[in-house]
Amino acid sequence: MRYPLIRPNPPKLSKLRGALESLEDSGIYSNNGPVLRRFESQVRDRLFGGRGECLGVANATLGLMLAIRHEAHVRSKDSGIALMPSFTFAATAQAAMWAGLTPMFCDIDPDSWCPSPESEERLLRQNRGRVAVIVPYATFGNPIDLDRYIWLGRRHEAGVVVDAAASLGARDERGLGFGTGAPFSIVFSMHATKTFATAEGGLIYSADTQLIHTLREMANFGFGEPRTATMPGLNAKLGEINALLALEKLGEIDAVVAHRTALAGRYRARLPDFQLQQMLGESQSPQFMPLLLPEALAPQRAAIMARMAELGIGVGTYFSPHLAEQPWFRERCRFGPLPVTDAVAARMLSLPIVDQMAIEDVDAICDALRTTCLEAATGRLADPADVSLPRRAAGGRA
Ligand SMILES: *Cc1c(COP(=O)(O)O)cnc(C)c1O
Repeated sequence: MRYPLIRPNPPKLSKLRGALESLEDSGIYSNNGPVLRRFESQVRDRLFGGRGECLGVANATLGLMLAIRHEAHVRSKDSGIALMPSFTFAATAQAAMWAGLTPMFCDIDPDSWCPSPESEERLLRQNRGRVAVIVPYATFGNPIDLDRYIWLGRRHEAGVVVDAAASLGARDERGLGFGTGAPFSIVFSMHATKTFATAEGGLIYSADTQLIHTLREMANFGFGEPRTATMPGLNAKLGEINALLALEKLGEIDAVVAHRTALAGRYRARLPDFQLQQMLGESQSPQFMPLLLPEALAPQRAAIMARMAELGIGVGTYFSPHLAEQPWFRERCRFGPLPVTDAVAARMLSLPIVDQMAIEDVDAICDALRTTCLEAATGRLADPADVSLPRRAAGGRA
């Protein structure tokens, strides 16, 4: 694949020889070791203006489980509802279910693709007292309005946990990392496929240092006293080797985000006739480039994707199927009609943004998309079942 949709680019292990030897000499591999503590304090200072605390966890899914479980526990709503958009990744609903809650899906805004305030507020009113936690997703790194969630949580006596999996490196209009100053948990992913790429890892930020202290105990088997569980817990600790990758990535992240933002800007300039995501803040931390196909072409999405793959361009459909379309969730979660989510997901196409791409690569991908859409619109695109088999013959048409 000439242009893969995602190409993991964690710090080069081969360049970390010295640091790995020191780690080995220290004999410390986990349990809130010195490398993790250094990363947590540096990420707080460099991305969150030195305010609040950070907790490194083994991955964002475990981070969501801990933070969601905590909100339900402190409100004695251990089997309540977790309100979240259906337009997100499976991890969010799985985390709520592992925490003992029932996910309830709200619809999204047609422009920002973030949770729709009207839909959220209607569901909160209809389920008064039963919602333990609101779990908005900062869709594709888009910085959602956190002040509104402070208000919403208070008004409905619900906790708030923000799924900011794709947002580490995104900055708000103050130039501070998304989430800075928030009094609840903001959960980021540092998975290899994310912009802040390591191997596996997650980060929970909060301005509430006591909250982070408690989550740290929950992440260590719920030990509130030495070797004594005093609260719900599990093992979600970030080991020293992954913490080292995170520390190295922190040094690169501003350059990585700047380059990816330039690539996204080029896509925006080259695709004025496609519907793109409305940006809510200053900068995202783009993981890929999402866009909506013209409505008339949505039924041909599979054929368009197959043709793009033939042209050497990896494309995806984050998040289609959306959660309410997946059997495990459809049968166990609560939701009503989700017309905007259905419409957006059906037209969604994700294009490549990777660290190694140049601006001209965006032009090549946009040209290929335009040609492919024209072929689809004029009935010249074969059914994916036909194009995927005689790959070479089909490729010859280009
Ligand atoms: C990647 C992702 C997660 C999960 O992150 P992990 O670190 O892989 O567990 C959760 N939610 C969303 C929206 C994501 O994109």
